[in-house]
Amino acid sequence: MLRRNSMAADPLFSSSARRRFERILGDIPGETAGPTIVFVAGLHGNEPAGALASERVAAALRQRGAALRGRVVFLSGNRQALAAGLRFVRRDLNRGWTEPQLARLCALPERALGDEDQEQRELCEALYRLERERRGRMIVIDLHTGSAPSPPFVSFGDTLLNRRLALSLPAPCILGLEEVVEGAFMSYWTDRGHASLAIEAGQHRDPESVERLVAALWLLLVASGCLRAGDVPDLAEQREHLRRASAACPPVVEVRHRHVVGSGQRFAMEPGFRSFSPVQRGQLLAHDERGPVLAPETGLLLMPRYQSQGEDGFFLVREVRPVWLKISEWLRRAGAPRVIPHLPGVRRDPARPGHLLVDPTVAFARVADVMHLCGFRRRGSVDKYLLFSTRRAVRPRRPARSAAMAVRPERPS
Ligand SMILES: [Zn+2]
Repeated sequence: MLRRNSMAADPLFSSSARRRFERILGDIPGETAGPTIVFVAGLHGNEPAGALASERVAAALRQRGAALRGRVVFLSGNRQALAAGLRFVRRDLNRGWTEPQLARLCALPERALGDEDQEQRELCEALYRLERERRGRMIVIDLHTGSAPSPPFVSFGDTLLNRRLALSLPAPCILGLEEVVEGAFMSYWTDRGHASLAIEAGQHRDPESVERLVAALWLLLVASGCLRAGDVPDLAEQREHLRRASAACPPVVEVRHRHVVGSGQRFAMEPGFRSFSPVQRGQLLAHDERGPVLAPETGLLLMPRYQSQGEDGFFLVREVRPVWLKISEWLRRAGAPRVIPHLPGVRRDPARPGHLLVDPTVAFARVADVMHLCGFRRRGSVDKYLLFSTRRAVRPRRPARSAAMAVRPERPS
């Protein structure tokens, strides 16, 4: 159920909405070399919880003077949208994180940039600078909340590095979101070879979302090696706080469907849904100007949209048994990904280094599942082929070859 009335009276709503946050909410150098962990808050401007949690943890770190390794940085995301209390001013800042888009923005004169273009350029330059200055691994954590009530959860590109970090948080893991959302912020930093997670903490204006993010920040500071567990006196309580909030949810799910809302479509969710609500195939979930929107399959609902902005109406996910994560890790460590390009129906894409073209009529059964287990990411389709990429770091600012065939983004199989 939506808590519209209580949201209006919520002190978090009145005191924090439309606040102008500084770009750098905190930059705390460690005493010894180590990882650089960057928390990015409010890529969506109607989600101030991440910025509030960042300010709290940054203040506590400065006050405690704990022996920090590496560097801890807190950045605000869409400052103009945060100041306006909107998800975005002109476009979603959690999209468009691709090399061509960033190369274009960085080449433009600053005076030519407005709203999200300016935000993206500033944010990306701040992160490139941290990338250059780091003296260890870089970790980029993207902090979010949603319009519906939700337990906390974590999504990430499925590299072993990201997995280890995500599994350090006692919250459900979402696999495959990056395959249905093109150009997401965390996907870009994963593609550059860093560890990157997105955390959804709960509802936008629920003070509990801030508490959950504070807990997640402390746990990640320890998991990343920036702090020792002994330097966070209430670490066990923070862990328990986060664990309790999602105790009833499956530990790992994968995305099966994304309902896209086009511009001008009058999309309205049916009331009463929340993330992880079970739904049956054919169940009425929403209405738009074409009529009722039904669940295309049985599963669990994720991020139902109860706000006017944004192109994601809802997602459907299904549980993945944790044993598959173990099998997948074993396959990757045993070198299975090196065998994949030599299997029938699979070949390297001559136009795109690091990409494979898979002919689903020739390749092995359940090809997409096997590719996922071996750490490949579905990028769409090229003619009759499925296009997958390996997860090697992208080479910055590399122009696409003109000979490449057009890629059509698709839903996951
Ligand atoms: Zn968000």
